[in-house]
Amino acid sequence: MSQRVLSNATIFEGEELEVTRGYLVIRDGIIIKISKGSPSGRSTDLKRGFILPPFVNAHTHVADSVAKELYLGRTQQEVVGPGGEKFRALGSHSRSELLASVRATLQDMLRTGTLAHCDFREGGVKGVELLREASHKAVKSIIMGRFSTLEELNVVLKKSDGIGLPSLNAFDEKILRSIANQTRRAKKLFSIHVAELKSARDEVERALELRPSFIVHATHANKEDFVSLQKNDVPVVFCPRANSLLGVGTPSIHLALSTNVRFCFGTDNAMVCQPNMFEELSFAWACLRRADPTAGGEEARKLLQAATIEPLNLFNLPWGPVEEGGSATFMVLTRGNNLTNLTNVHSGLVNRARADNIRTIYSRGKFYKLENQPKIDVLTG
Ligand SMILES: [Zn+2]
Repeated sequence: MSQRVLSNATIFEGEELEVTRGYLVIRDGIIIKISKGSPSGRSTDLKRGFILPPFVNAHTHVADSVAKELYLGRTQQEVVGPGGEKFRALGSHSRSELLASVRATLQDMLRTGTLAHCDFREGGVKGVELLREASHKAVKSIIMGRFSTLEELNVVLKKSDGIGLPSLNAFDEKILRSIANQTRRAKKLFSIHVAELKSARDEVERALELRPSFIVHATHANKEDFVSLQKNDVPVVFCPRANSLLGVGTPSIHLALSTNVRFCFGTDNAMVCQPNMFEELSFAWACLRRADPTAGGEEARKLLQAATIEPLNLFNLPWGPVEEGGSATFMVLTRGNNLTNLTNVHSGLVNRARADNIRTIYSRGKFYKLENQPKIDVLTG
């Protein structure tokens, strides 16, 4: 029986990420106690460091990492539209180059606190198999496959966790409905990129007719669209950094909050930005504050939930919130110089926390110490 006690901690507890200042006890991979105050006996002093659930990146294209910065000088359509540069780049690299690039990207995701991601994987069955082979033992890959021909759909469904379509224009309405129905019958996830471009702002209603598990982007969704998404209980995955870097705008996170839509965050194409959820959160926070300067600690708490708690059920992940009786799966962040004197811990973390604050990541009681950080020489004088 192995037991570990982490004391002097700021714990983001339960689904609501409520703050408990105290200690946490793990035994055999399970959190057996969370309490205010100090424990009796031996413990590891976290010096007011944070314990919070790991990140889940709800939308990636990790294989794109093989051609970073390919978007320069190009529009979104030229990069990721049908027949765009991205597809030429993916096709011009060998399988082993793609595998190496995906593995390096998954390693970077772990390094930045992400223990699961949902990937839209192009390239049919072979594309799905490539990501399965590259999988990291500590980072769960939920793979949404694509198919080159309708005949391939059944095989992709069998080998993947669902279907992720590039757009509503990829097939005609009747075929789209049939793909959505087949995916549902197979009890797999079904999702689509929706309303990423201004010219596609009417797409949300059309997408909802297909009863998707979730939609990605909704960058140009209006208030009515968010009301419909909420009524139909369809979550949205926002990708504000990739949207900005591709010059297509930023999502209206304030409308999602005011209409109570469920939402998560994703980092989208790895050729555009690193799948780093700390950066996604701080950028999303800036977008939200620009649209709504009254956004405060409560809104920041919801952004943090979107990056940690909200995706857990959606992707049926094998851990839950940080709570007694739950799996010991969480991050430990040190206070560091950037996280001292916070007047609000939720917005403080969303706005300022960085990957170099990660001291340890626990995954079902096992822990990954991330000590291989670059050494920094301090110049004096
Ligand atoms: Zn995407």
